[in-house]
Amino acid sequence: MAKDGDQMHEACGVFGIYGPGEDVARLTYFGLYALQHRGQESAGIATADGRDISVYAEMGLVSQVFDEANLTNLRGHIAIGHTRYSTTGSSCVENAQPIRVESDLGPLALAHNGNLVNMRYLADLLSQRGETAVTTTDSELIGRLSATAPGRDWVERIRHTAPSVKGAYSLVMMTPRALIAVRDPYGIRPLCFGRLGDAWIVASESCALDTIGAELLREVKRGEILVIDENGPRSMHMDVSDARQALCSFEYIYFARPDSVIDDTLVYLARERMGAVLAREYPVDADFVMPVPETGIPAAVGYARVSGLPYREGFIKNRYIGRTFIQPDQRLRESGVKLKFNALPDVLRGKRVVVVDDSIVRGTTKSSIVTMLRRAGAKEVHVRITSPPMVNSCYLGIDTARRDELIAARMDVESIRQHIGADSLGYLSLDGLIEAIGLPRENFCHACFTGEYPMPVQLDLDKLVLEGARHAG
Ligand code: AMP
Repeated sequence: MAKDGDQMHEACGVFGIYGPGEDVARLTYFGLYALQHRGQESAGIATADGRDISVYAEMGLVSQVFDEANLTNLRGHIAIGHTRYSTTGSSCVENAQPIRVESDLGPLALAHNGNLVNMRYLADLLSQRGETAVTTTDSELIGRLSATAPGRDWVERIRHTAPSVKGAYSLVMMTPRALIAVRDPYGIRPLCFGRLGDAWIVASESCALDTIGAELLREVKRGEILVIDENGPRSMHMDVSDARQALCSFEYIYFARPDSVIDDTLVYLARERMGAVLAREYPVDADFVMPVPETGIPAAVGYARVSGLPYREGFIKNRYIGRTFIQPDQRLRESGVKLKFNALPDVLRGKRVVVVDDSIVRGTTKSSIVTMLRRAGAKEVHVRITSPPMVNSCYLGIDTARRDELIAARMDVESIRQHIGADSLGYLSLDGLIEAIGLPRENFCHACFTGEYPMPVQLDLDKLVLEGARHAG
């Protein structure tokens, strides 16, 4: 039986470029650098030169995986890249992406952001075709099923495969001659399309386009299959009639970078508004408002503006430390918090502070934060969270832990306040969140807050059994 650490969660960053005459591997490297926050476990780039595909993927950060030598070896005019995020048990280089699969049409490379919910079914489907997956990723299943599907070309095969694949997938694929981007019919994970001169680019977030000087054209639409080859971009669509748009609201709350634009909405401004609405919903008398860096910064600015309280910083973050969740277990996660930031006693001593953060998952970080603020002399600590209580697991690509590890699934707000040791605790309401993002409620998946999944998902137990079976096999 697999431990929690063995579960596969895929919240990743993907990037792809079709750029004759460009150093596509280097541009992909910079694109991945901008998407590092979406996954710190492994990084990889594949390039295609019209005849074959080369792949280089390793465990580690983008800057650790790539150097001049291996970038220079990645030649061609098309490239795709991936930064991977998952929990410890599945940390092995075989699971790093892009992955390469072989077929009678030639090789295909694939990078996937999202999480599938019918892996068992897909694995059975693949074995009916006399094949078994080599890795433990759902991404490989998509690749191998596409490679073995009927159809004269890749688009036909992808169209044949997509209806059986359930879950979240923003995919960037590459044949020796074409770049293909595919987004699931719900549009759960973001994927955008841009241009740099004559080169075409797809990326998880627009911050990757900005980094390489490319212009954001539009989102890849839900159910879209976008093919880019020597004839330029061509857009095709799957049937999305039995799906609804269900973009993950947690992208705005926490996951995406604040300088990314998703559905014409700058994430920074959405977060600022979350703080502003939170100040209206949970005002408190205090000396100043401070963020938990860095995600909490725009929201603390918004809270301060509406409350009329000054904005100050009570924590300084070590810029060179990754996100705390990459620590594999609870003990390391706890010490990880101290690596992440220090409190400023001379700022905090004797003060009543409002501290703004994006979410409470297990509650570990929040308890440490309150403790650090009190040790630094804060007189009162009022915690404000820019999301509703997270009461359900995500099966669609955000690694938010099993339900029994989610503190809000076990405790009410007052008990959580006591647990983290805060003087008061306020969570943004769902209505407040929707108002702050500024897009229609029905555009989103809010399942982690409401339990209303946009599609049937397996229960935790199913998932554990499945993962156990897959790892054993
Ligand atoms: P905690 O207070 O221990 O529940 O930790 C919550 C903090 O972890 C949030 O404020 C985020 O900064 C971060 N976080 C939330 N969700 C995730 C996630 N899926 N992956 C990594 N970090 C996360």
